[in-house]
Order: sequence, then C-alpha cells, then structure tokens
Amino acid sequence: VIEKGQAEKSVITTCAYCGVGCSFKAEVKGNEVVRMVPHKDGGANHGHSCVKGRFAWGYATHADRITSPMIRASIDEPWREVSWEEALSHAASELRRIQAKHGRGAIGGITSSRCTNEETYLVQKLVRAVFGNNNVDTCARVCHSPTGYGLKQTLGESAGTQTFDSVMAADVIMVIGANPTEGHPVFGSQLKRRIREGARLIVVDPRSIELVKTPHVAADHHLKLMPGTNVAIVNALAHVIVTEGLVDEAFVRERCELPSFEMWRTFVAQPENSPEATEAVTGVPAETVRQAARLYATGGNAAIYYGLGVTEHSQGSTTVMGIANLAMATGNVGRMGVGVNPLRGQNNVQGSCDMGSFPHELPGYRHVSDSTVRQQFEAAWGVTLDAEPGLRIPNMFEAALDGSYRGMYIEGEDIVQSDPNTQHVEAALRAMECVIVQDLFLNETAKFAHIFLPGSSFLEKDGTFTNAERRISRVRKVMPPLAGYADWEVTQALANALGYPMQYRDPSEIMDEIARLTPTFHGVSYARLEELGSIQWPCNEAAPQGTPIMHIDAFVRGKGRFMPTQYVPTEERVNARYPLILTTGRILSQYNVGAQTRRTANSMWHGEDRLEIHPHDAEERGITEGDWVGIASRAGETVLRATITERMQPGVVYTTFHFPESGANVITTDNSDWATNCPEYKVTAVQVLPVTQP
Ligand code: SF4
Repeated sequence: VIEKGQAEKSVITTCAYCGVGCSFKAEVKGNEVVRMVPHKDGGANHGHSCVKGRFAWGYATHADRITSPMIRASIDEPWREVSWEEALSHAASELRRIQAKHGRGAIGGITSSRCTNEETYLVQKLVRAVFGNNNVDTCARVCHSPTGYGLKQTLGESAGTQTFDSVMAADVIMVIGANPTEGHPVFGSQLKRRIREGARLIVVDPRSIELVKTPHVAADHHLKLMPGTNVAIVNALAHVIVTEGLVDEAFVRERCELPSFEMWRTFVAQPENSPEATEAVTGVPAETVRQAARLYATGGNAAIYYGLGVTEHSQGSTTVMGIANLAMATGNVGRMGVGVNPLRGQNNVQGSCDMGSFPHELPGYRHVSDSTVRQQFEAAWGVTLDAEPGLRIPNMFEAALDGSYRGMYIEGEDIVQSDPNTQHVEAALRAMECVIVQDLFLNETAKFAHIFLPGSSFLEKDGTFTNAERRISRVRKVMPPLAGYADWEVTQALANALGYPMQYRDPSEIMDEIARLTPTFHGVSYARLEELGSIQWPCNEAAPQGTPIMHIDAFVRGKGRFMPTQYVPTEERVNARYPLILTTGRILSQYNVGAQTRRTANSMWHGEDRLEIHPHDAEERGITEGDWVGIASRAGETVLRATITERMQPGVVYTTFHFPESGANVITTDNSDWATNCPEYKVTAVQVLPVTQP
C-alpha cells in the first residue's frame, strides 16, 4: 500500500536518495508518513519528483529496523541487546583500550550520505578532536573524490559550477559517463526538456543509455567508447579544438594561467592525441569525435554534465581535469548555460565533502597542514589538531590487515556491499578488534561489527543536505527517532562517553558552528534557510543570497589552471581468460546499495541486478535471455541472470550493485584513481559463461 489516507499535517523536507535533492512535503498522520508530495517551491525540482523519491518512506518503519543497541564479544557470537548507556560506554572503553595498546592512530571513522551535514561535521569532529587523528573518510571516496581533487586543481573549488536550471540556457549539452534519466531522474527530465526545445546533445558513454535515443530525444553524437579510455577521448576532443583554431583565445588570455594553457595546447596538439590516432584505443570513429568537438566548441553555450563513469577509473581525476580544460579552452565557464557539472550520485555526498570528512581536509576544503586554519578549529574545539593527513578508506583496510588499525566507527555506510573487492574488505574488518556500525539495519557490514548503534532515517531528524548544485536544503523531522535518538545525538553521546564534552541542543547550533568556522558557509543559518528556502554555497558576506553560478568574473583560485592529461591505460587488461570488460552503474528504482529502496515498494519495478550483454557475446557463449551466468574476474566470482541487449557493445558487459546477493563488488578489483584512490568500478576484466541456476 503506497498511499494511506488523509494526512493531519505536512512537513517540508528533502529527498534522501540522489544528488538532485528534491524538496518534498511529507504528509503525516500520527507518527506515520502517508504520502510524499513533491514541493512546487523546491529549488532543485520545482514540483517534480521520480518514483524513487515519491515513495521514499516505507523503509523507515520496516520490520527490519533495529531499535535497540547491541554488543557482542566477537563476530561469531549472537548479538545481545543492551541499554544506550552500556553500548556507548562499551564503545568508548574499547576505542580507548585500542588507542592505549596500538597508538592514537589505530582508530578512525567513516561518514556517509545517510548523514546530514551536521552529523557529518560531528563525525569528523569526533575523529579529529576526540580520537586525535585525521582518520576520517566518507562515501565520496568511492564516487566523486576525483571531482573534489580535479576541480580544485583547475578551477579552485571542489564543486560543480552551475545551478541545475542553468541547463535550460544550454545550446549544446555533453553528457559524459552519466545516465541522468536513471541516476538523477528529475534533472534527467529537465535535460530532456531542453533537448526537445532544440539544444544539441553529445553523449560519451560505453552504453547506449536512454538519452542516446528515446522518444523525441536523440543524441547528435554518441561516442560509444571502450571503458577506461575517457582520457584518450577528452584529449582527442581537445586536439580538434586546438588544431582547428576553436579555442576562445580572449577568454583564455583574460581568465587563465597562460603558461599552463601553452603547456596543455602543445600537449594535446601532438599527433598521438588526434581522433585518428586514438580511434583504435577508444573504439570511437575519428570523424564522430571531430564533429562532437566542433559542436561543443562552436555551438553556443556548451555545458558538460558528468558522473561516475568519469570518476570511477584509475584516471578519474585526470578526466575531471581534462573536462575542466575543455570548458576553459572554449570559454564555457562563468555564466548560465555552460559549466562543468558533476552529477553527484547520492543525496549528501557534496555535503559530506564540504563538511571536512576527508582525511586531508578540514571543513571548507582546507588542508589539515594549514596551521592558520587549524588554529581556528583548535581554538573553537579546545584541542590540538593533528597536522598530518589521516587514512583514506582503502588505507584503513590495508592498515587493518597489517595490524596497525584496529577500531572503526561507521555511520550509515555499508562498506562491505559498496566498496570494491568484497573479500578484501571483509578480511580487513575481520582483522579489527572493534567495529562500531551505526545504521538502520543489520547490513552486510554489521555482520563484522562488535557494537551496533541504531541509526535514524531522514524522516527522524533535523538537519540539512547539500545537493550536486551546492544547494543546502533543510531536512525536517517528520516523526520521532524509532530508537530514541537521531544520529547526531548518538555521535555526541559517544564523544561525551569518551570524555570530550559536546552539548549541542539542536542541529541548528551545529550549523552555527560550521558557519562560524567555514568561510563559504558564513551566511548559512537555519533562519536564513527558512527565509530563502534553500541556499547554494558560497553564502557569505560577498554573496549573502548564495551563489547559483560560480567563477563568473574570476575563478575561485584566481586564474584557471590547465592541467596535464596524459592518457595511461588501466592496469586492468582483458586476456584470453578474462576477455570482456565489466562496467557497473545504477537503475532508476534503486538507490545505492538498496538498503532503503529494497525495503519500500520500489522492488516491484526492479527486483534484481542483471548482467547486460551484447547479442554477439551472448550467442558466442550460448547464453539466452534470462539465463543464469557465472561472472569471474581476477578478484572473485558471482552469478547473475543475463539480459541480452544492444545497449551494450561487443566486448563490454554491465551490471548494477543494488542487491547484496548479486555480489557485484565481489568481482571488482582494488585498482583505483592515482590521485584519490576512488575505485575503478567501471573497468573489470571478466569472463561470462552460462551456469545452472544457483
Ligand atoms: Fe529527486 Fe533524486 Fe529523490 Fe528522485 S531520487 S525524488 S530525482 S532527489
């Protein structure tokens, strides 16, 4: 049953799924949501929503919710329900015991998009001020960390340049490694609307995603490249722009660092970067690349939208910088209709990065080695902070296996299902002395936990989320927390149990502290959010209403910097044993690891992960539609059912990772981005063969 009768009140809040950040009126009867109605004043959605968000409440009251804290001495023992006091004091004494035995750096924490900004801020504060190290990381590590790195290097700020509505002023739209109609449906509809109005479309994707051809929308050019060759294709586009005289010389002269531009121009002009020379690598006909480059550079306002198909590669950061290079070279930054627009996957992945949950950055993307910034936080928090960057998530796993990292606090992230090479993650967790999981459900990671603290859904707490266009929106409590406490209260209680006083009475006080300590948030408060509805950061003395478009007169870093983008093939190669490339993605009805959407009505639309395979590859292997197939990689193997489709190209297969029993990440490897360690989910060499039903 989806709609449940008359509501008694409605509460405006923000969808907890994708990075669009739609505003909803949650209609409530008693303590139960009866309907979610998209809010017409929502800055990101203007009254629209998708099927996922429209029905996004069922999981909150699902029978699987765990509402009592639990502990156990080892992961082989059954859980024992305990009071909050006992669970927190046990967690505190375990963490302190580990530090006394193995050192201050032997513990850390992971936050996620399930947390509000305020909760993420508290997790990184707990790690830095109470644990006394920088071992904090977030789910962005495995999705858009290359965006943070690449855009900061080139443009000066670790965030997208535009507001979503900017697409309505675009004449040319290039979508690279993103599938907005499935991953960001409301923005995907807006984008299609603009195409129907006449904007031209270039799709760069190994699959024929819906945007390539759908009723009334067809891409002018589809660059159906081989996974892992993004940098080669971006360099080939740049080669055409440079060698055919399509650079916006005036923009570059006025706005960019000229030595960096000259270096880049010389590099991309080299014959080995031409579309003809790279055709054998990318699989994209040279003439298609040439036409796409000309259209992007000369078609008017040109905007690039990109997703995890860009970032989740061994050269993810290089591609992000290559995309920024293209935008700067053609003058497509700093006004409506243009820009570099990362489509952040999850609801608050932008916010979790903004709030300093990276091991090298304090809130507002300021490096932990910056003593001036550190002193501000030290004065506010009453502690001395570590100046050395801490461990990233993959480093935590390595350190767990070598015995130097022994305890971890994980808020809202199911790392066993979401991170690559499941076997490796499980081995790391097994090696630890104290894993504390704070979540709604006993997820895959909780199987390796010693302490379980019940989490709260977005309906049970106050706070804010920040979407892919830097829009900070209120999350408002719709019902009391099922377990008695919101996530931020649990983190605060853990800090107190560890002897560090935290006494926020309300999340608004946490936001006030964030605003005091973070220049891009100086103007943000709950009162201001009430007044404006939502705010796109930076919001401060210079921009009291917020900033829908960034880099208008100058880049945040001053002059834009072109960065080198040498193509380096991934180490993950096909061979006779693993002749196909597997790439992964998402479907419309499910969100991330599916913990929430699998517990709502969504599964009636899609109830399993499938392997998409081209008819040629299927026929060669004797696979017919719906057959069970075994998929083996260098990391592991799993079994899925096959969907035979010409969406795929020969040699490339695809699946999603929403269902734990599918085990998509059992197959993916430890390869990762050279700069940020974002996993290379998009390129895994595999073999696929028919099997009998498991
Ligand atoms: Fe909007 Fe995304 Fe939620 Fe759908 S899942 S309603 S597009 S925020």
